[in-house]
Amino acid sequence: MSAAARAAHPAIHLPVPILLALGAALLIAGQPLAAGIVPSSGMGDRSGMGGGVDAVSSGPPSAASASPPEAATIGRGVIDDQATVVDLSGYRWPLEHARITQAFGPASDGLFVVDGARFHDGLDLANFCGARILAAHDGVVIGAGRHVLDVSGWAGDVAAYGARLDTKQLWGTLALTVVIDDGNGYRSLYVHFHRVDVIVGQVVHAGDVIGLEGSTGHATGCHLHYSLYSPRATSLFDTNPSEVTRSYLPAAEIARIDPLSVMPPLEAGWITWGWGARDGS
Ligand SMILES: [Zn+2]
Repeated sequence: MSAAARAAHPAIHLPVPILLALGAALLIAGQPLAAGIVPSSGMGDRSGMGGGVDAVSSGPPSAASASPPEAATIGRGVIDDQATVVDLSGYRWPLEHARITQAFGPASDGLFVVDGARFHDGLDLANFCGARILAAHDGVVIGAGRHVLDVSGWAGDVAAYGARLDTKQLWGTLALTVVIDDGNGYRSLYVHFHRVDVIVGQVVHAGDVIGLEGSTGHATGCHLHYSLYSPRATSLFDTNPSEVTRSYLPAAEIARIDPLSVMPPLEAGWITWGWGARDGS
């Protein structure tokens, strides 16, 4: 990894709730961010979600009077690495009646390393094998199947990794995956399908069935691994070095954001926390 890339690490400079609040402030103002103006409403539907964070309480108390009532109806937004506002509203749960079996964050078996700790770069949801996986957001399919390395958000060249898969005929061991450009600067990755029901170029709407829950790739059971990244982001998650050595994976991927920061409340998808899923155990 280059020195510049290391300088960009760690990936996330501000807690997501603060980014959300800042983004909403920009959306409200419709112009460059004015320092100190942080809405105190508009994202208060996150109660019951993991992480113990609440965008409402992250803003200064005095901001309440500065926020117009319309803030409550404005979608979520973040400021990406390029300091542009991205509207991350319009997301729904890609698997319903499911349990969160692993959160986004530190995890002893995570493929990545963030701030010196192994890290799980997405949200795992599970109910039963063969359950329908839904598009979490409107978008266009840009990857479907196993040959999705170029759109999976790796940082750097994937040629060596792909060549090893060719030589050892290991493509079949990879997870069936769908990558959708959500049209808002972010891409959704859906991993471990039993069957993929969309093709590259297909336009999907939130809630459309895109395949069936499975356990292809590195999985101990049927579940959906869902993650979100922006190809514009410059922050990185380091790949576990032993995996880089063993399988020639690129040394880093583009940093992901916590899917819980864009999802509606758990209740909207009949989602519950699985045992031990919140603490990375
Ligand atoms: Zn996962």
